[in-house]
Amino acid sequence: MTKFYEVRRRDGAARIGFLSLNDEKKQTPLLFHVDSLSSGKEGFEITNAEDANFSDLFQEDLHDTPRGTVLPPEVHPLFTKVNEAIPSLSVDCYVLSFASAMLNSPRAFVRRIIDARNAIPSDVALWVPAIATAENAALLIYMGVDVIDDTNAVINGYQGIYQTEEGAMSLRDLEELPCNCSVCSSLTIDELREKDSKERASLLAKHNTLLLEKELKKVKAHIRAGSLREYVEQKVRSSPFLTAVLRILDLDEEEYFERRTPVARNCCMMANTMESLKRIEVKRFASRVLERYEPPVKQVLLLLPCSARKPYSLSPSHVKFREAIAQYKGHIHELILTSPLGIVPRELEVIYPAAFYDIPVTGYWDAEERAWVASCLHAYLERNARNYVQIVAHLSGAYRELCSCVADELGMDVEYTCEEGEEMTSKEALNRLNARIAALCGDKKPLSSFEKKASMLRAMADYQFGIGAGRELISRKEGERTKIKITGKFPAYKLRVNGDVLARIVPEYGLLTLTMQGALRIRNYLASYTVHIGDFLPKGSILAPGVVNANEQIRVNDEVIFVGEKAFGVGRAKMSGWEMVESRKGVAVDVREVEKRATSAKSTS
Ligand SMILES: [Zn+2]
Repeated sequence: MTKFYEVRRRDGAARIGFLSLNDEKKQTPLLFHVDSLSSGKEGFEITNAEDANFSDLFQEDLHDTPRGTVLPPEVHPLFTKVNEAIPSLSVDCYVLSFASAMLNSPRAFVRRIIDARNAIPSDVALWVPAIATAENAALLIYMGVDVIDDTNAVINGYQGIYQTEEGAMSLRDLEELPCNCSVCSSLTIDELREKDSKERASLLAKHNTLLLEKELKKVKAHIRAGSLREYVEQKVRSSPFLTAVLRILDLDEEEYFERRTPVARNCCMMANTMESLKRIEVKRFASRVLERYEPPVKQVLLLLPCSARKPYSLSPSHVKFREAIAQYKGHIHELILTSPLGIVPRELEVIYPAAFYDIPVTGYWDAEERAWVASCLHAYLERNARNYVQIVAHLSGAYRELCSCVADELGMDVEYTCEEGEEMTSKEALNRLNARIAALCGDKKPLSSFEKKASMLRAMADYQFGIGAGRELISRKEGERTKIKITGKFPAYKLRVNGDVLARIVPEYGLLTLTMQGALRIRNYLASYTVHIGDFLPKGSILAPGVVNANEQIRVNDEVIFVGEKAFGVGRAKMSGWEMVESRKGVAVDVREVEKRATSAKSTS
């Protein structure tokens, strides 16, 4: 439990926060400097389990400067003592001991940091000392480390090691200084070599530290932009060790990152590497399409390729596909095949990350990508094929190969409307698609535009809150005279019932948001998205100490309802549900609408 640390922003497990040191709020991820630490200038106290005053850490209000304690490794005699004490300790930071030993194996690197982060409360900071470099800092912070220091940068300086963003080089091997910091721009490499050993070491140490400071600023910029994962995928390329750490994290620590990954972001997800296939966002989307999506019944399934422009509907190729089937749209269920998301039902094309990803397009799919997308299609068809009267695939090239593989595995009959090697947008292919669909649909009447919009809102509500929520949101209740309207221009639809707005699509985040009336209407479906708060009427935001309980399933940016003795309302989660319960500081929910429970007077904030 913390007194001096507060997390303000999150991107996955990485956080930006403030640690109050000497009455000054220092932003984390924070870089401690060895010289100010050794002179005690940082105003930070560290107590070991063997120190006589260790028991003071159990007393909450005793300290007026931030304090920390050391987390020994499992083999250390004090390990059990500290681990057992963790729930009752009042500290702001934990220091991981013997961190340099982690550098011997990528698996140890993963284990030590993840175990530490899992053992300590989420609202305290984690300091991994003496190992940070400009090369590994992004990965450390991505894993949930809040504090690093320049010990390694300084020691390397005294060893004649010149650090770069991509690793270390010996000063002997350089022909010029590949950097523009104040040290490197003030002298040439020859001048640096000619300095006496002490001055040279101190200049090298300064360059190494400045480089680390610069790297930290970049990492913070990526956390703010929601793009740290992309940056980490780039950064680990510089060494097999760091790449191995990321791959192990993706393989073994899915739960750790799932609990910390937001359900939506307002930025594009770039899938440029093979590791991108393993992102939580990708896996979560694929599993929700299977678990939280109900396809329409008795329709023709049309498989289409993805497009660079998102939402797909607005891309030139999809405009052509949709023109070719325009008359029969309501009887055709469109499913888009894509990497890395697998399959995207047309009704979910606006949701995050379906409308928020970009991939390098070469026409070539590697084996892993094919296997992943094929597994998504396989699982979907295995589950839902009985809903369809026929499957038509308007696909060629790698898309078609993949589809026919899956159809063979499942013994399903698929009609193809593109010839081998034919452009999917060619006139011939589009005419063939139109003729095939016309033959299958005959003289069926087209569905109303209301029904098409409603199917999108329903699918989005199911995706966010669970199956059934969509139907409940857009339904006429028995005995009720209901006028349901969907207004707005694609994709910013608004659902109105008897004049009141119940929900709206926010294309900037790829989410459906609820109004108070909307939340009340589907309240039975919102049990998993409920935050129980104390006896107060919130304004603006609900802070973590005001949360009594919150569902474990809630993630950052989820739509939630909050319920307390005095208030009921809707808002957006700013931390995961488990974190709201654990934390003593920070914003838990951004309030959108709140209603007083006793008097039912309404105010909007
Ligand atoms: Zn430099």
